[in-house]
Amino acid sequence: MPGTMPDVTDYYPQSNRFFRMNIHEYQAKEILKQYGVAVPAGIAVFTVDEAVKAAEKLKADGSGLFVVKAQIHAGGRGKGRTIKSNAKGVILARSVEEVKQAAESLLGDVLVTIQTGEEGKLVQRLYITDGVDIEKEYYVGVTLDRAKGLNVIMVSTEGGVEIEKVAEETPEKIVKEWIVPGQPVQPNQARRLAFALGLSGDQFKKGVKFIQALYKAFDATDASIFEINPLVVTKSGDVSALDAKINFDDNALYRHPELAELRDETEENPLELEAGKFNLNYIKLDGNVGCMVNGAGLAMATMDIIKLAGGQPANFLDVGGGANVETVKNGFNIILKDPNVKAILINIFGGIVRCDRVANGIVEAVKDPEILSKLDGVPIIVRLQGTNAVEAKEIIDNSGLNVISAVLLKEAAEAVTKAIA
Ligand code: ADP
Ligand code: MG
Repeated sequence: MPGTMPDVTDYYPQSNRFFRMNIHEYQAKEILKQYGVAVPAGIAVFTVDEAVKAAEKLKADGSGLFVVKAQIHAGGRGKGRTIKSNAKGVILARSVEEVKQAAESLLGDVLVTIQTGEEGKLVQRLYITDGVDIEKEYYVGVTLDRAKGLNVIMVSTEGGVEIEKVAEETPEKIVKEWIVPGQPVQPNQARRLAFALGLSGDQFKKGVKFIQALYKAFDATDASIFEINPLVVTKSGDVSALDAKINFDDNALYRHPELAELRDETEENPLELEAGKFNLNYIKLDGNVGCMVNGAGLAMATMDIIKLAGGQPANFLDVGGGANVETVKNGFNIILKDPNVKAILINIFGGIVRCDRVANGIVEAVKDPEILSKLDGVPIIVRLQGTNAVEAKEIIDNSGLNVISAVLLKEAAEAVTKAIA
């Protein structure tokens, strides 16, 4: 990622869905097409029969060369393999029959790529697309540069490979142009980027047009990431997006109901999905300390402190401003569904919501027989700071429950690490 301001995904890369709605490649390409970005023809399918019909339809106007692509919310498909049939996630097919075979091997199997984790992702949709004769592969990405408060377009001649690797090993091979959000990319900026890709003549013109249209789509959809990897120049001289990854800013989705509909909940972490239904911002992580915090910034600081104290957070959970019995109960229910959780750290800052009220809420939630049985001895460490913090500590200490109170965040984190040691 560009910029110097750390992003939650830099610390916790597992949480790739942090306020970001991900969509499938075929959906991303539909959007690109609407804005005049060149993409090869393709049809999304759910069954082998549909795959065959799609191939027959594409054959009418294409080269007869197809690519069958697993649609999962993860990249690295070309190098990934399915568990049962050991098929690649991107398969070149030279006939309708080969499309059929590829579809049979992918649908219903689980694809494992470097981005899915070892558990992989179930393949439920395919994209049948025209096979393109590739002359050269490039990279184009658009995202936010938080440090500069601007949008940034990045291009690289190193397409088809992981851009993170390029950024680390040969950062000079990534060329950037910054744009004020809401304004179009200037023609000279698009030209500089196309030039940086080494394009010339007709391809240069097509490249400039591609970048302008791509940026327009990014800006108009309130996207947080557009990534075309690879963008290709074909043997016949066309410039086209062979892959497309789009993330939207969840907070802007209310402005785009038609985009919100593209959400595929089967691709999302079931716990994160459930938390969302309770209006909780929850991200599952790999550690064993459950966290319940009010405010995203405090939640991140809490996870950092846990790490400093030698523990590993099991989740990010922002219960929002008004932490009451209901939100605390919902928080417990979500956190305790993760079998890795060995201790829970509740860190609430009582500003508008007074600490004594939150403390009463926590005590009431923990006394709930259902929560108690789920807790099954998991220790809870509570740190309440802010208005009426002293009263709040008394309430916790006098509750008679297996709840440890702490005043300083450092103390709290150390108490947690001790509890799980
Ligand atoms: P992923 O990034 O998930 O591996 P891509 O869509 O980038 O998936 O595909 C991987 C590689 O497969 C591309 O770099 C490209 O070389 C090839 N490929 C993808 N789509 C096509 C296509 N329509 N025609 C020809 N080759 C393709
Ligand atoms: Mg790709």
